[in-house]
Amino acid sequence: MTLSTSNTIDFDSARLRLNHDEKARSSLIVPPSKPIRHMTLMGLQQRLTQQLQTSLEIDRVLDMFFNALQEFIGLNSLEFRHDAHSVQIQKGTSSMHRCSYRMTHAGDFLGEIQFTRAKRFSEHQLQSLETLLGNLLYPLRNALMYREALRFALNDSLTGIGNRMSLDQALSREVKCAARHHTPLSLLIMDIDHFKQINDKYGHAYGDAALKAIVSCTRNCLRDVDELFRMGGEEFVVLLANTDNHAARFIAERIRRSIEQMQFEIDGDAIPMTASLGIATLKAGEKEESLLERGDKLMYTAKRAGRNRIAC
Ligand code: GH3
Ligand code: MG
Ligand code: MG
Repeated sequence: MTLSTSNTIDFDSARLRLNHDEKARSSLIVPPSKPIRHMTLMGLQQRLTQQLQTSLEIDRVLDMFFNALQEFIGLNSLEFRHDAHSVQIQKGTSSMHRCSYRMTHAGDFLGEIQFTRAKRFSEHQLQSLETLLGNLLYPLRNALMYREALRFALNDSLTGIGNRMSLDQALSREVKCAARHHTPLSLLIMDIDHFKQINDKYGHAYGDAALKAIVSCTRNCLRDVDELFRMGGEEFVVLLANTDNHAARFIAERIRRSIEQMQFEIDGDAIPMTASLGIATLKAGEKEESLLERGDKLMYTAKRAGRNRIAC
């Protein structure tokens, strides 16, 4: 007994087959007169066409797709993955019998989708699945493009971490969350000391490499829940949800020390780097702009006090 089938579905050739071969057409589509679980395949296709265009979020699109197919084919789960987009989504709970498809369109890889159910897939069900996957094509492609566009809009292209726009969104969200749940929220503003000298001495490309090294070093000092952003130039912000001033100072000091001890070399020259950090903790009723401003002022306090230090 085969538990698993695996296929590649190229939507271009599938469509060609539909357009040019009536026989193939009738074998791919269940006759509309034959109701399956109170709805014909064509009826479901129409519903999906309308439904799936209502969202650009991959998760939501797959949710609607799964719900519709679950009713129709009796699926237990749908699993979707697209490694290049870092997407891995599961709907439902996996079961024994599987079939999976690698989806491509116009030479673009659209991801791998796997369906499972407790009973074997009949030939008829596999044909229906393939037909319905055709309805997923454009909504899925659009959702992947939207995700990519968001990534470009919200991430810093040099270091890959969140940019200023992303920081503004996260800060607004965290301040609201902290106020609602009465939890502490702290932020660190970090500026690299005498960074201009690295650019002046070694050139901009090495300055870029130094910024990446600093991001990597800082990340290693953080917990999974902490968020790191590049506010601009060589200035960074760390958002520490659920963290009071005392704990934030501890994290800031860990970052400061790690950067000071970082082994960064250019052409065999060891390049010492240090950073100055300001630490601000949200006060009751405080707005995000004010929190950011206080953090910035404290960072300059650390600079004035001699650099390579923290201020809170
Ligand atoms: P301070 O200790 O007072 O902070 O001194 P500084 O030299 O770090 O400060 P300043 O603001 O004078 O210089 C920041 C430098 O950061 C200037 C700018 O050329 C450099 N910089 C900003 N963004 C980038 C970038 O994306 N790549 C590189 N290589 N350099 C950058
Ligand atoms: Mg600086
Ligand atoms: Mg600066």
